[in-house]
Amino acid sequence: MKNRICRVCKSTAVKPFLDLGNQPHGDSFIATKDLNEHEPHYPLRACFCLDCTTAQIDYTVPKEVMFEYYPYVSGTTRMLKEHFEKSTERLIKKLKLKKGDFVVDIGSNDGTWLECYKNTGIRFLGIDGAKNLAKIANAKGLETWPKFFNKKIAQEVIAKKGGANLVTAAGVFFHLEELHSVTEGIAELIGGTGVLCVQAIYLGEMVNIGAFDQIYHEHLTYWTLRSIEHLLGYYGLEVFSVEFFPIHGGTIEYLIAKNGVRKIEPSVAAMRSKEKKLRLGDIKTFEKFGARVWEMKKELIPILRKYKKKEKRIFALGAPIKGSTLLNSFGIGTELVECAVEVNPLKIGKYIPGVRIPIKDERTAGEPDAYLVLPWNFLPELLRKMESYIKGGGAFIVPVPKPMVIDKNNYHKFTKK
Ligand SMILES: [Zn+2]
Repeated sequence: MKNRICRVCKSTAVKPFLDLGNQPHGDSFIATKDLNEHEPHYPLRACFCLDCTTAQIDYTVPKEVMFEYYPYVSGTTRMLKEHFEKSTERLIKKLKLKKGDFVVDIGSNDGTWLECYKNTGIRFLGIDGAKNLAKIANAKGLETWPKFFNKKIAQEVIAKKGGANLVTAAGVFFHLEELHSVTEGIAELIGGTGVLCVQAIYLGEMVNIGAFDQIYHEHLTYWTLRSIEHLLGYYGLEVFSVEFFPIHGGTIEYLIAKNGVRKIEPSVAAMRSKEKKLRLGDIKTFEKFGARVWEMKKELIPILRKYKKKEKRIFALGAPIKGSTLLNSFGIGTELVECAVEVNPLKIGKYIPGVRIPIKDERTAGEPDAYLVLPWNFLPELLRKMESYIKGGGAFIVPVPKPMVIDKNNYHKFTKK
């Protein structure tokens, strides 16, 4: 077969550790009228570079297929909004941002993060390749360019608006097909003194909790401090601060500047030694992670079957893209899960790709005997929201980190007062 080439260091020593088979693009929800159309499937295989230690998938679905119409609206989750509000406050203070300074948010989605800069006097600009989302943001008065950021766009921003004091990239750094052009563009945009803030799902935590459903075609690369430092090194950039947040099942924030410009904080060395302990530079760690996924399947399927045997109804709670990975990897279709319920109007009335589970309106679908909780990363928020359902005899089937059932008997164990 064709040699795999590392997305970061171009090495050919790239070895697969988890093959999830051929899957459709997990966010290409299917409209009823398209149910008989051909649905493209692409390999979904996670690999590890023995040279630079970057975890990555080895097949790229064109970004125009994945992102030009993007059904994930960040404004729909309260936790995320709060997270951005806190991030803004923290960054303004830490980086001493002041009136007239300029912030660029890459992959700005519907402008949820940009909105936090309103009333601060700080100038801001969003850039997002999803035209539907850029439109939503612009309608709210949050200037957003409907473009895929790269070196050329960076130069356009500099020409029209000047260099940036801060560039933020939340939940985008693993999406980048033009990884090198984007990083080079950011290096130009922040100039000598600006800062880049990258928030991304943390591979160390993914491995730790078995969150294999974070692997999907949109996520091309999966970062550790060590691997992102390797990438940044090509462009004279270095990480000077690392912080960890529980959102999205484990998100890490890297603050990055030109080499030698900022004092390196102790958090960087601490994270480096933590990664050594977790053996995140060793492919064996990832092979173990891969094997664990199939153990999870062996545990989850019998739980679902048990409900079905008793003629109980199971709905999927939510239809996030990670749910597409989980359902398609484990072959869970309508024979086990009757439908998925959502509040996102961009998904209601459509079908989950591959497994073709219909998506209904959460407010009118009624209540099943159990929900399969696909957005398990929002479990605390969901448990609070559905307290009366569970106490009234309903149940949550949670697939990650370990398949389990939460019902009225053990509900208290999962909620802190
Ligand atoms: Zn590499």
